Amino acid sequence: MRAIRPAVVDFDDVIVDCMGSVIPFANRRFGTNVQYEKMYTYELWRLFGQALPAMHDMINAFFHSSEHDGVLAMEGVAEGLKYLKEKYGAVDIATARPKIGAPPMLSLLQRHGLMHFIRDTYVSVPKGDVCRKVYASVFIDDAIHNIQAVAAKNPQTSLILMGKPWNKESHEQAVRVPSWRAIIEQGL
Ligand SMILES: [Mg+2]
Repeated sequence: MRAIRPAVVDFDDVIVDCMGSVIPFANRRFGTNVQYEKMYTYELWRLFGQALPAMHDMINAFFHSSEHDGVLAMEGVAEGLKYLKEKYGAVDIATARPKIGAPPMLSLLQRHGLMHFIRDTYVSVPKGDVCRKVYASVFIDDAIHNIQAVAAKNPQTSLILMGKPWNKESHEQAVRVPSWRAIIEQGL
């Protein structure tokens, strides 16, 4: 039997468009006007000028809100996950969400009909450790620091950065792509 070396995929802003719903939610809460296209960082406390405890409260409220239920799937994600599952044998999710964000994540996967593509989910486990444990073939994330963490521990893993306004600088070892469609078309 051939050992499976799965694809490891981030959840927020790779499988679903989390920021597309967080930003308007936080703007209403804080009376701000942060715009998605102008996000130079995903560190929300910087964008919204709020202390970390206020941001944690906001995120916890968001996880339990109707806005979270309305988070959209990324365009082409079903085709993308199907492609990865066929190519690598399995797809695991590694998310930095706190444990409290796991049940809402699973309900979004159900709602968007994506659960059957997923083998395992790792919540709040360092992504470099996840990729080493499962001997990942490929890792996909939108955050540079996660790409760096995986690169440092996993020379066997190829790296894909999902392009977003906050990661334009990319990473020397990663391929930056604009969409799931590009991953399929480039055979990554
Ligand atoms: Mg992410």
